[in-house]
Amino acid sequence: MSYELNKKIRKIEPYEAVYKYYDIKLDANESCFDISREMVDEIAEAVKNVSFNRYPDPTAAEVVIRFAQYYGIRPEYVTAANGSDEMISILLSAFIEKDDMVVTLSPDFSMYAFYGYLYEAKITNLPKDNSLQINVGKVIDYCNTHDVKALIFSNPCNPTSLGLSREDVVRLVKNVFCLVVIDEAYMDFYGESVMDLVDEYDNLVVLKTCSKAMGMAGLRLGFAVAGENISTALRTVKSPYNVNSLTQAVCSAVLKNKALISEHTVEIIESRKLLQSRLHALSKKYSALEKVYDSVTNFVFVKSSVSEMICDKLLEKSISVYCLGSYFRVTAGTLEEDEIFLTELEKILAADYTEE
Ligand code: PMP
Repeated sequence: MSYELNKKIRKIEPYEAVYKYYDIKLDANESCFDISREMVDEIAEAVKNVSFNRYPDPTAAEVVIRFAQYYGIRPEYVTAANGSDEMISILLSAFIEKDDMVVTLSPDFSMYAFYGYLYEAKITNLPKDNSLQINVGKVIDYCNTHDVKALIFSNPCNPTSLGLSREDVVRLVKNVFCLVVIDEAYMDFYGESVMDLVDEYDNLVVLKTCSKAMGMAGLRLGFAVAGENISTALRTVKSPYNVNSLTQAVCSAVLKNKALISEHTVEIIESRKLLQSRLHALSKKYSALEKVYDSVTNFVFVKSSVSEMICDKLLEKSISVYCLGSYFRVTAGTLEEDEIFLTELEKILAADYTEE
């Protein structure tokens, strides 16, 4: 008799992680800068002191303290995970019971619905309106009239690149009765964090990652920031050795160098502004680019009915951007990478669409 997978996992769609070599990789919203070479000695020293035969510190104490110092928050409120992705999984597995209603917004990061489904929550995907902005009033109404147990969304949003003000997030957190998880993976590019408010709102969890502005996607480190009650529960339910010793050591060394990380953040924002304005100019010239959204992140979101054709043609030139139906999302690269991308994009647009 052959082993049969259960219905739940037979039906599941895998997350489409891009892992292929391309000369210009602008598809995954990573930092275009590796960590600064000036830190290499400090990192080497940290690695030398790792005891590879021992299990890692289950509380990841040093890196949690460094992270808390980086943002000026209390380390007691910080729990580390193997990427913020693992933290989404921990939250949805432990804080949600079977058939509990979880609200996600659409479009948004697909892993919320993925883990929700895996842990047998009832997922409601609330569609955003045409502007792709979050309608705070509507979300509050929905949560309070449908026995919702958790609301989770990214701010700023991946993929739309749009941000909700701190004031609006607070209005939301204050006015719903459920757990609110705000994924601030891209917040270093926007500056409207609510991380400092977890003491005030006991239903608030803020997710952070070292994968974006900090340039450490390969090390896999993310955090949940929450008040005492939730933080204690998170530490209890997570697997004991979820963050490996190398990651703890290297990230601790890197996080000591806030100035070097911030320099890269500033450059990435400059790159995104350039990308955005040049894409906007192209959209005036070529109707195939219908709309370029006002990004507050390290990527630009573009509406185009021929997005698939554009992404395929860029791939032929070894340039990878992320295609989502009638949109594509392009990560800010180095200025050189942006230039090559824009040149190739214009060639594609000019070849298939006569100028108007
Ligand atoms: N949240 C959002 C909104 C993301 O875009 C991503 C990565 N694409 C993640 C979380 C996952 O980040 P990490 O690398 O920390 O798992």
